[in-house]
Amino acid sequence: MQPFYTEQQTLLANTMREFANEKLAPLAHEVDETEKFPTDQFRDLADLGVTGMTLPEEFGGSNGGYKDFMVVVEEIASACGSTSTVLITHVSLGAQTIYHGGSSAQRARWLPSLASGKKIAAFALTEPSTGSDALALETSLTRDGDDYILNGSKLFCTNGAVADIFSVFANQNKKAGHRGVTAIAVETGTPGFTINPQHGKMGMKGCATAELVFDNCRVPVANRLGKEGEGYRLALQILDSSRIMIAAQCLGLAKGALNAAISYSKSRITFGKPIATRQAIQFSLADMATELDAARLLTYRAASLYDEGLPHGKESAMAKLYASEAAGRIASKALQIHGGVGYFKPSPVERIYRDQRVTEIYEGTSEIQRLIISRTLLNDLIE
Ligand SMILES: Cc1cc2nc3c(=O)[nH]c(=O)nc-3n(C[C@H](O)[C@H](O)[C@H](O)COP(=O)(O)OP(=O)(O)OC[C@H]3O[C@@H](n4cnc5c(N)ncnc54)[C@H](O)[C@@H]3O)c2cc1C
Repeated sequence: MQPFYTEQQTLLANTMREFANEKLAPLAHEVDETEKFPTDQFRDLADLGVTGMTLPEEFGGSNGGYKDFMVVVEEIASACGSTSTVLITHVSLGAQTIYHGGSSAQRARWLPSLASGKKIAAFALTEPSTGSDALALETSLTRDGDDYILNGSKLFCTNGAVADIFSVFANQNKKAGHRGVTAIAVETGTPGFTINPQHGKMGMKGCATAELVFDNCRVPVANRLGKEGEGYRLALQILDSSRIMIAAQCLGLAKGALNAAISYSKSRITFGKPIATRQAIQFSLADMATELDAARLLTYRAASLYDEGLPHGKESAMAKLYASEAAGRIASKALQIHGGVGYFKPSPVERIYRDQRVTEIYEGTSEIQRLIISRTLLNDLIE
């Protein structure tokens, strides 16, 4: 990617790679085994300034673009999938929702502590009865004087068990379709708000997933993000851009798997020669590298469009769809190249194989990405 990245982005990638190899990779197995939230790793990322990377300097951020953040996410994901999920959720879902949905007072109130990593953000859209169909939200929001009353529950909330500030999407009027959904920031400790950690995930085990329960939870009107009825549009806007970072995460997972496969193929001897000398293995590595670069180009295009303020919904869906499925194929091939060893812990490819799977599900499944892309194609045809 040298011709595409600026000198500064290449430097950033080198710094992050060094950090990821030194500080994240050695702990990745432990995070996976213990389901422990990577607290120290998050703190290190905050010290490096990446927890507020895409926020403006006035809120403590470093004013970075999505191309910059893409470089960071790829390097982190290549060492520890869970830590990359934690960071993406904090930055491109949680903090970005407050930045784009929030008033200047709300930005000043919440963003500096998120940028510095003193506080952790989460994004709560999915519910027990609905994930892909965000219009079917059951969590209700009812106005009561200067407060709203929230009732309902959210599922699978990444960072949920440790987060301080949640962007919650709730329905004020189900009959009003997308105009019925409103976004509101809810802080941990608000009476009527309970957090129940969820265990038993297949991969990405360190990302503190939780169920959120709102039982007559009273939240000040001052916490509403945007106007009443603008929540659905805000959620889609944030998902359109955050998907670019899921694609970047897939680049990292795929790179981690490919590097492990290259290195193992050079050292594993069968029939008197390293398996890397066999054409079957060489062609497999060639296919993996080609798919990885194709995914990176799609991701880079989506991030460039975002940074230039241009429409990017279809392109971010394409990047997420292709990168996640390519990462699945690459992880599977890397595991195959490792033979039996790849099937056992603590092989990094065994962990990557499991971590990758959810990238085809969260922030919109592959089917939903195909829907987004095909709708755009069909609209283009009609116009
Ligand atoms: C580890 C993890 C972390 C997550 N983190 C978060 C988070 O932080 N915040 C949050 O809000 N959510 C989060 N999610 C939820 C995630 O975004 C949803 O699981 C996802 O959007 C799919 O929704 P669902 O599980 O309800 O599946 P459903 O919507 O019930 O879909 C089930 C299946 O049907 C398919 N399908 C649905 N509709 C259609 C259609 N119209 N056409 C074709 N196929 C269709 C889907 O693709 C899927 O294969 C997380 C999920 C996981 C597993």
